[in-house]
This record gives sequence, structure tokens and C-alpha cells, in this order.
Amino acid sequence: MKSLLMTHPDCLQHAMENHPERPQRLQAVMEMLEQSGLSGDMDMKHAVEARTDQLTLAHPLQHVEFIEQSEQPNQVVKVDPDTYMSTGSTRAARLAAGAVIEATTRVLDGEYSRAFCAIRPPGHHAEIAEALGFCLFNNIAVAALTALQRPDINRVAILDFDVHHCNGTVDIFKDNEQVLVCSSFQDHFYPHRFLDFSNDHIITTPMSVGTNGRQFRHLIEKSWLPAIEDFKPDLIFVSAGFDAHQDDPLAEINLNEDDYRWMTKLIISLAGTYTAGRIISTLEGGYNLTSLANSAKAHVEVLIQS
Ligand SMILES: [Zn+2]
Repeated sequence: MKSLLMTHPDCLQHAMENHPERPQRLQAVMEMLEQSGLSGDMDMKHAVEARTDQLTLAHPLQHVEFIEQSEQPNQVVKVDPDTYMSTGSTRAARLAAGAVIEATTRVLDGEYSRAFCAIRPPGHHAEIAEALGFCLFNNIAVAALTALQRPDINRVAILDFDVHHCNGTVDIFKDNEQVLVCSSFQDHFYPHRFLDFSNDHIITTPMSVGTNGRQFRHLIEKSWLPAIEDFKPDLIFVSAGFDAHQDDPLAEINLNEDDYRWMTKLIISLAGTYTAGRIISTLEGGYNLTSLANSAKAHVEVLIQS
């Protein structure tokens, strides 16, 4: 069975000069997947925009309307100090969420067991009613809630190894015991919201500055594995951010491509045990174009092996 690659060129329309979350990120990932032959080994599909009734699974209608109404023709506006919108941003954000929704639907329909969504803007900082940290809609949360509408899906796990804490995903699922959220992140770091929030199904794994691959692997095994083994998810989602890489300019954690391969292998092994192999992974952060592309390649290469 081939794996699915969801993307859309209009995700590049969301653009602001001199901002780290830039179209070149997605271009670098897609070029790497093409040059390495990985995208040729996958079924590549163009996303369609998430509908409002899908986005409102995770966000109130007022938030969706706020995003739509914030976009102004031919100018860049800020919806939070770090988060901008340009012409085309609403479409890009709807396509990003739509990609993860479609990946989920196709995996649950049995067409694929693995999917990677090469999209932007990212989603994991978007809270219930707030755009934040380069994120407009919480792509993975919308998709997880889509999955939970299926009668045979009662528990989903969201595994987030982006270097930033997934405050938005935590906000959306903090009271939803059907969703296990595991997040590793640089401690005392952006976005400084929900950093200390944890309960039985919200697992936080803070990492001190300079954490290396060996320490990262130990932390994941100690904090995530028991939670996942207890929870027994029916489906695994991955918030795949690659900004914990040692070359990333936004953070101070020292992972490399081998650590992303290790992480992906671990997720595949868990999926083999609990989810009949089903994994939906989506791009979050990663701001050094070279390490982003190389890390995404390492992740996808392992992900699509059967
Ligand atoms: Zn990040």
C-alpha cells in the first residue's frame, strides 16, 4: 500500500517578508521530497479547503469569521504579535486544515495507512478562539475531531515533537479524555501558555536548553510510552515540527535527523500495536530550510516504509 502525501501550492500564498514562517519552508520540504524520490513513491493529492462546519469542530464560528474578516487585499495584517495574514492566508489556512482532514478520512476509509501533510500555516499554537504563534486554525485538532466522529474511533493520540509546546492543541483537548496529547518542548519557552498544564491525557515533556538526542529519547520513553500504552489509541496523529533540530535558529535543542528517524520508528511501532498501523502526520515548525528539509525527509522516509 502506498502512502499519501497531501499538499497544495496555494499554501505558499500566505507570505510576509522577513518572517520565519515563510513559503520557502514548504518549498524546501517539497523539493526535498521530490529530489529524493519520496514523493514519487507516494500518492500525492492536492487538498481542498476545510469547510466552516469542519473548522467549527475545534473553533467557535466567531474565530473562523475573525480569520476570514482579518484578511485584507494586498496588505499584511497582524492577528497577534507573531502571527500575520496576507492576501491568500485564509485560503492557505483552510487548505492546511483540509489536507489533514482529507488524510484522516482516506486513512480511516482504508485507502492508506500512512499520510504526511506538507502544508502551512502550521496549526498547533492556535487555541480554541485565538490565532497564535504563526497558526490560524489548529489543523491537527480539526482532523482529530473529524476522526472521533467515526463510530469505531474512540481514542486518538496526538504526538507533538515540535520544539514549542502545543498550547493550542492542549487548550482544545484539555477536557476531552478521548484525546491523548503528548508534547515535548523546550522548557520556559514560547508560547508560555499551558506550559504547566497536565492531566491523565495531557502529557508534557519539557526539555532544558541543550538537550541532546540521547536525553530526548530517554525523556520520550519515560514520559510518552507509559501514557500511550495505557491509553491504547485507535489512531495516531503526529504534529511533526522540526525546530528542535540543532541548526534551527528559533530554539536551543540539539536533535538531528537520526533522532527524527528514531522518533518516527517508535511511532510506527506504537501504531503497529494499537492503530493497525494508521498514522497521520502533519508539518508544524522548522525554520532552518536545510535542516527542515533534511529532517522532513528523514521522517517521511521512515514513515512510508511498510
Ligand atoms: Zn515550533
